Amino acid sequence: MITPKSLWDDMLKNLQSTINATSYDVWIKNLVAAEIVQNKLILLAHLSATAELVNKYYIEKITEAVKALDIFVTEVEVRFEGDYVRQQNEVVEEETATEPEFGMKLIERYTFDSFVVGDSNKFVYAAAKAVAENPGERYNPLFIYGGVGLGKTHVMHAVGNDLKKRGGLNLVYITAEKFTNDFIDALRSPNRKEMPKFKEKYRSADVLMIDDVQFFENKQSVQEELFYTFDTLHNAKKQIILTSDRMPKDIPSLEERLRTRFEWGIIADVQPPSIETKVAILQMKAEQEMCNVPTDVMYLIAERSEANIREMESLLSRVILYSKMLCQEIDMNLAKESLKDYITHRKSQMSADTIIDAVCKYFNITKEEITSKKKTKELVEPRHIAIYLVLEFLSLPLASIGQIFGGRDYTTVIHARDKITDRLKVEKKLAIQLNDIRNMVQSN
Ligand code: ADP
Ligand code: MG
Repeated sequence: MITPKSLWDDMLKNLQSTINATSYDVWIKNLVAAEIVQNKLILLAHLSATAELVNKYYIEKITEAVKALDIFVTEVEVRFEGDYVRQQNEVVEEETATEPEFGMKLIERYTFDSFVVGDSNKFVYAAAKAVAENPGERYNPLFIYGGVGLGKTHVMHAVGNDLKKRGGLNLVYITAEKFTNDFIDALRSPNRKEMPKFKEKYRSADVLMIDDVQFFENKQSVQEELFYTFDTLHNAKKQIILTSDRMPKDIPSLEERLRTRFEWGIIADVQPPSIETKVAILQMKAEQEMCNVPTDVMYLIAERSEANIREMESLLSRVILYSKMLCQEIDMNLAKESLKDYITHRKSQMSADTIIDAVCKYFNITKEEITSKKKTKELVEPRHIAIYLVLEFLSLPLASIGQIFGGRDYTTVIHARDKITDRLKVEKKLAIQLNDIRNMVQSN
């Protein structure tokens, strides 16, 4: 039987002779075969830049290698592994989300049963349970706050899913961002004719759940709308649940009257989980995926990941993915191997500085020069290249990249990017230079 791995192994033998040794070592041999979809082999790269580069410069040779084997697989695509893992998780989430009555979908797997309780979250768990038992009575609103990926959305959906089971209630779940966008759409509708519908939609809720309310900061008109919605619901003893990454008092330019209302009920925080809680979460997740993950591997993942539980889950997914791809049971060796690059890359915290340093070294100029206002050719070219690579490697806003390069405007960043993109179409030498610098950055 042809597995993705056996196929890729065969192709590598061929590629070793058609691609030069350095490029083969740096770009090709570390790609991992993930799956075969119809006639296409999917390969994964650890970095998005690698995926992009291989798709651009080596895909023809790789495709030739698969065609040479003369089997049903005739196409190859290289993807960034992080995206791939995320997409696999998203597919599961979408399949399990139920149709909304109003607002957005509740994710079915976010239940109380699938929420692991530890010291870090037992308070929020108890408060959420109490709300699910007697909505609108004791804790109104329930305000949940805590860092990213610590389970705020999960626990809020758990209340929703629990109440949904019992039926008869109009549950409305919405993110603050979508609430804002819908509000703006209603405002802009001809004669604001959508506005009554918007108001009715939220004011008729029996339970209103708004996720990430820190998003409302600096948004005056939508805050006013929220204020009226809040009072209507609260007066009618309807339950309100809010989440935020900050305490109400720490949300800048949140109207005073909203801030006090957010504090009327109960404020429950989620703290970063202890190592034991993390392991318990991994255990549950491994069981859900029906995978046998040894305890020492779970401790390894828990220790190496930071507080963010979503990120920890993706490390586990990555280990599971590797075990499936390599057709090997999960053990410490496999786990270490599959997490190696990920962890060193994250730990090394590639920053704009790493990239700028590499470019400066390559062109033998200084950091002061590259970020200076000087416009000599010797500096402009490296500057453009550095900006181009910072954009490629780091997902930073254009304006902050401009700042890094001597307080320039974001239009400079766009100009640099377009310039290099155009030149790449015709200058082979530039492509090679960029590859060399990418290598320097990645081996840093
Ligand atoms: P937040 O909204 O705080 O950013 P989420 O609720 O989206 O975080 O949680 C991120 C991921 O971590 C989700 O997949 C969620 O199921 C999982 N998670 C968080 N806390 C727990 C927990 N206590 N038990 C099980 N899974 C959890
Ligand atoms: Mg959330």
